[in-house]
Amino acid sequence: MNLPQPGDYIDIHTHGGKSGSGVFFIENLMAHEKRTPEDFPEQACTFGIHPWFLNNNNYDQLLNCVMAVTGFSNLFAIGESGFDKFRGPATELQRRSFEEQIAISEEIKKPVVIHCVRAWDELFAVHKKLHPKMKWLIHGFRGNTELAMQLLSKGMYLSFWFDFVIRPESAKLLESLPKDRIFLETDGSDLDIKVIYEKVASDLDISIDELKSIILINFNNFFNL
Ligand SMILES: [Zn+2]
Repeated sequence: MNLPQPGDYIDIHTHGGKSGSGVFFIENLMAHEKRTPEDFPEQACTFGIHPWFLNNNNYDQLLNCVMAVTGFSNLFAIGESGFDKFRGPATELQRRSFEEQIAISEEIKKPVVIHCVRAWDELFAVHKKLHPKMKWLIHGFRGNTELAMQLLSKGMYLSFWFDFVIRPESAKLLESLPKDRIFLETDGSDLDIKVIYEKVASDLDISIDELKSIILINFNNFFNL
């Protein structure tokens, strides 16, 4: 299994990531797709039920797909999974699916990548109810500092929405956060992860090499390596 090396750009969450020189990415596979970690033995993957693609008819089948891949060593985390108030089935079904996946994450001792849109109360409620020992990463984050701090206070990590993090106005949020909980991602966009690193390094007033080392340490902590 390949792991990120010092000097690599780490793209923590991609869909259809392309290997480029010096880039390490984690490919996110969704249970409704016909792709599993078994198809990409050398590729670091996450696997989970995305709330958008969940419904009452496919719930059991998708959950079985998640349980079927838990043994693969290139499965780095469960997810993306979570809540979306704008798209997907009723919150109750999203909660059931999310809680089941949290239980799997706890059982196999692998962390979780979370998709959460306008459902922070629901997310915090599950966290409070299940007391997870595994780490959680909120991907595509674009909230304010207060929300970020609330998530961090629960031990969570944040990876920022690519389209938010490259805008000048995200600098204030980035500066205000502890650097030991952050990740960067392209999430299947055409944006180059290197462009995101450049922008964030400049916001944080550090070099790209420093940012790379920070995110590599975060990677090793998050995945318990
Ligand atoms: Zn995604």
